[in-house]
Amino acid sequence: MTISEMTIPEMQWAQVAEKVGGPLVYKQIPVPKPGPDQVLVKIRYSGVCHTDLHAMMGHWPIPVKFPLVGGHEGAGVVVAKGALVNGFEIGDHAGIKWINGSCSECEFCRQSDDPLCANAQLSGYTVDGTFQQYAVGKATHASNIPKNVPLDAAAPVLCAGITVYKGLKESGVRPGQTVAIVGAGGGLGSLAQQYAKAMGVRVIAVDGGDDKKAMCEQLGTETYVDFTKSKDLVADVKAATPDGLGAHAVILLAVSEKPFQQATEYVRSRGTIIAIGLPPDAFLKAPVLNTVVRMISIKGSYVGNRQDGVEALDFFARGLIKAPFKLAPLKDLPKIFDLMEQGKIAGRYVLEMPE
Ligand code: NAD
Ligand code: ZN
Repeated sequence: MTISEMTIPEMQWAQVAEKVGGPLVYKQIPVPKPGPDQVLVKIRYSGVCHTDLHAMMGHWPIPVKFPLVGGHEGAGVVVAKGALVNGFEIGDHAGIKWINGSCSECEFCRQSDDPLCANAQLSGYTVDGTFQQYAVGKATHASNIPKNVPLDAAAPVLCAGITVYKGLKESGVRPGQTVAIVGAGGGLGSLAQQYAKAMGVRVIAVDGGDDKKAMCEQLGTETYVDFTKSKDLVADVKAATPDGLGAHAVILLAVSEKPFQQATEYVRSRGTIIAIGLPPDAFLKAPVLNTVVRMISIKGSYVGNRQDGVEALDFFARGLIKAPFKLAPLKDLPKIFDLMEQGKIAGRYVLEMPE
């Protein structure tokens, strides 16, 4: 810990969307002050999730705060804390996640389903997030990051990692079985492949383009199915399972509706489809007959609770999760959103904060 980390300035650099649709403005704004139950984290790195683009563009019918500082994969150092905070000391490494805080009192919070809390605060959506040098979060929801864990690589675990880890658990897929990961070449997809592998689950990666193919092969996928080139995607996915009967689980991460309609065709009988990706205005559609007589389950999965967060970070800390990421300075966020919109990012971008 250097002295400069402990001296908290009045103003800081941030990427701010003034209104729905942007544009982003890179400018100085005041450093927030932590409330009694909050930590102030000097953000070192923040992953850029497709959710951040959905938020700025107002893609979903859930109101977004504006002006908005997006970001919810922030990793850094605790530089101040409120009087009620016990779980962190100044100088600890901490992560700010999508769930910035929740009420702790409702049925969902009482049952450790805090993402379902109707009054949850969402980082980079209903409260300012991690595309700034200093961000606040409720201490009981912030992640403890061990000091030996690199903060740049850990940042994407805070949303992408936790979400796919939870989704894989919700699918009930077991070691030795096969999961089809749709959108495997993106941020969530690259981490999903690593968590599946660490759990002993075999992977069929579905995405488009040769960059994503190369990345998926580097991550050790057994089969890559290119949705832009395949003449019969359903047949190709089924053929990639050892007995040709289809995937035991499908994890849908794509930002496009079609795979959400198609997954029932290549999931195995008794298999489970997990919807995680959030393409705007999209619907899940499945033939009733097939869903019934093949006993197919279709479920949504939304981030993870605090324990999922601890477990997902622990997989990472033990060296089991190695997903590629590219570093870029905070000022480059608009360029990254452009690439993301065009589907041109293989893996994750991680923003580095200015000193
Ligand atoms: P990303 O842009 O990095 O990845 C999306 C991938 O989907 C891209 O690689 C793209 O090429 C691929 N794709 C697009 N159409 C496809 C198709 N027809 N078939 C196969 N692949 C296709 O995005 P990301 O950051 O990984 O986020 C993915 C989605 O998950 C977003 O909608 C995001 O909002 C959502 N998300 C949900 C949760 C949750 O809790 N449910 C959490 C985080 C993110
Ligand atoms: Zn996210």
